Amino acid sequence: MDRFDDFYEETEKDEEKENIGTRLTKKAKTVLLAVGLTVLLILVIIAACFIAYGAGVAPEPVNYVIVQMEESLSSAGIHVPFIGTTGGAVTEPAVHEPITTPYVRPGTTSEGALDADGNPIGISGAAVTGSAVTEEAINEPEPEPEPEPQIVGDASGLYPEMKVSRPAKQVSTTNVVYLTFDDGPCSVTEDVLDTLKEHDVKATFFLVGNRLTEATRPIVDRIVNEGHAIGVHTTSHKYKPIYASVDAYLEDFHTTYELIHDMTGQYPKIFRFPGGSINSYNANTHTAIINEMTKRGFTYYDWNVSAGDAASNPTEEGILINATRGVKYFGVQKNVIVLMHDTSSLTASQLGGIIETYETAGFTFDALSPGIKPIIF
Ligand SMILES: [Zn+2]
Repeated sequence: MDRFDDFYEETEKDEEKENIGTRLTKKAKTVLLAVGLTVLLILVIIAACFIAYGAGVAPEPVNYVIVQMEESLSSAGIHVPFIGTTGGAVTEPAVHEPITTPYVRPGTTSEGALDADGNPIGISGAAVTGSAVTEEAINEPEPEPEPEPQIVGDASGLYPEMKVSRPAKQVSTTNVVYLTFDDGPCSVTEDVLDTLKEHDVKATFFLVGNRLTEATRPIVDRIVNEGHAIGVHTTSHKYKPIYASVDAYLEDFHTTYELIHDMTGQYPKIFRFPGGSINSYNANTHTAIINEMTKRGFTYYDWNVSAGDAASNPTEEGILINATRGVKYFGVQKNVIVLMHDTSSLTASQLGGIIETYETAGFTFDALSPGIKPIIF
């Protein structure tokens, strides 16, 4: 019996415990229901706010509050599924814009090269459609190349008739001196012509257009008739304006070019830049000018020997020494082109000695022609 009583008592205790548990569960359910309804109500309010925010109808303060809530929830590890953004979305209109396919240059993709079928290498065809490579992108024409910047005043269309022919081949000579005289014609030119005639030497005269007048016409006639060559030097010989642009150079050149034609009946094919092809006045324009003149068939000649007769205070002895430095080129296949000025009476006085020095060294003389390879700085 004792054991039965014990059993009964234990059962009774268990039932009592059960009853207590049942009462507690009922209370808990009531509390949980109340809490659940409250939470649900809060969630409905929050959802309503989010919908208003997403539709853009919520006023700015509400948006700000929601953004703060989003950030707080996000930092606490709670994800709000139907927004899925952080506060940045408020000021990023791109979120509401339609998604566009980015342009991909034909033949390439953001992933790499295309195979023969136009598919990205290493990516299946199905993936291609979903990527940036679409039919529209592949068929999109190549963008037009950027036009090259135009330099004002470099109109190559100026004087289209001013063109000459140039030999396909220009040669270098050995042991030939090309005496050249710039800045004439003038009275000194006649002295120079006399000396050249005495030595039966042919030379080249690069003429200045402003000196081509009726007064100097007989000198020009002599130059031509005595077998010398004529080239264009310049019209004004004023560095700054003539090297200002290609147009400016062409205008200056064209005047002398036509004057020489008027006097001789021939258009010159050779020329010399005042100050040489590269000088402190044409640093920005010489390339364009040279390109333009070369394109038109003209040949320009710089020099590898200078008499120094245009320097300040030249002396007769100095001119003789300077002008004959070309003797070092004897036996060397290199055109010897000597710069002198037929405006210098000192040069005229030394010309005989210069010629004899070269002759003694074994050189001969000739006039320049477009078939002679130029010396270029
Ligand atoms: Zn000159």
